[in-house]
Amino acid sequence: MKSWADISWTRAVVSENLKIAESAYLLKFPRTFDFQAGQVVALGTDPDLAPRLYSIASGEQDPFVDILFTEKSGGSLTPMLSRLKPGDSLMVSKPFGTFTKIQPGSVLVAAGTGLAPFMSVLKSGKARGATVIHGASYPEFFYFDEYLEETLKEKYLRCCSRVAGGDWFHGRVTAFIEQWKGLDPGRKHYLCGSAEMVVQTRDRLISRGVPFKNIDAEIFF
Ligand SMILES: Cc1cc2nc3c(=O)[nH]c(=O)nc-3n(C[C@H](O)[C@H](O)[C@H](O)COP(=O)(O)OP(=O)(O)OC[C@H]3O[C@@H](n4cnc5c(N)ncnc54)[C@H](O)[C@@H]3O)c2cc1C
Repeated sequence: MKSWADISWTRAVVSENLKIAESAYLLKFPRTFDFQAGQVVALGTDPDLAPRLYSIASGEQDPFVDILFTEKSGGSLTPMLSRLKPGDSLMVSKPFGTFTKIQPGSVLVAAGTGLAPFMSVLKSGKARGATVIHGASYPEFFYFDEYLEETLKEKYLRCCSRVAGGDWFHGRVTAFIEQWKGLDPGRKHYLCGSAEMVVQTRDRLISRGVPFKNIDAEIFF
C-alpha cells in the first residue's frame, strides 16, 4: 500500500490512547464500520505519510475499535500515533484482509502485538476451544493477560524469552513448540508475528508432524 490516494478512508476521532506497557499502546476510536475478526485497517495522521497496517484487536460487535501497537524508535508513524490524545483526528481505511477463517478449537500462536487479531477472534466469540500461545520478551508485554487467563484458563500458555521464574515457559515460542506435550497435529494452527517468528514457528510445527494444510499465518512487517 503506497499512498492514501490509493485507498478509501475516513477520519476517526480518538477516544482513548492508553500506554499499557513500555512503548506499547492501546488506541481506541468509535466503530463506524462492520469488519470480520482478523482484518486490518490502514492508519495515518498525515496524508503525505504512507499508511501503515494494524490488526483490529476488538470484537466485531464492540462499540470501539481497539488497536494494539508498539512505538518503533525512528519509525515514521508510530511515534506520532503514540502522541495522539482523546479528541485528535486519525486517518482510518476501510477494513480489509483475509486472515478471517480461524476455526473454533484452533491453536493461536502470537508474538508481541501479533496477539491483536486473535483478541478480535476471541472477543467476537469465534474461537471456542482455542489455545493461545503468546510469546513476549518481558512479562509486561503479556498484553490482555487478565482477560486471557479468565477466558481460556489452562488453554492460555505464555512464553517469556528474557525472564525465568514466573508461571510461564522460559524461552521463545519456538522452543516451547519443540517440547509441547499438548501438541496435536490434527488441530489448525494460526501464527501471527514478525516474518522471522512465523517462519521459525511454522518450521517447528512441521518438524513435529503438523501438516502444512493445518498452518496459516499473518505476517506483521
Ligand atoms: C498485516 C499487518 C498487520 C499489522 N498489524 C500490526 C498491529 O496490530 N500492531 C503493530 O504494532 N504493528 C502492526 N503491523 C506493523 C505496522 O504496519 C508498522 O509496520 C509498524 O507499526 C511500524 O510503523 P512505523 O511507521 O512507526 O515504523 P517504520 O517507519 O516502518 O520503521 C520501523 C523500524 O524500522 C526502522 N527503519 C525504517 N527505515 C529504515 C531504513 N531505511 N534502514 C534501517 N532501519 C529503518 C525504523 O527506525 C523503525 O525502528 C502490521 C503489519 C502488517 C503487514
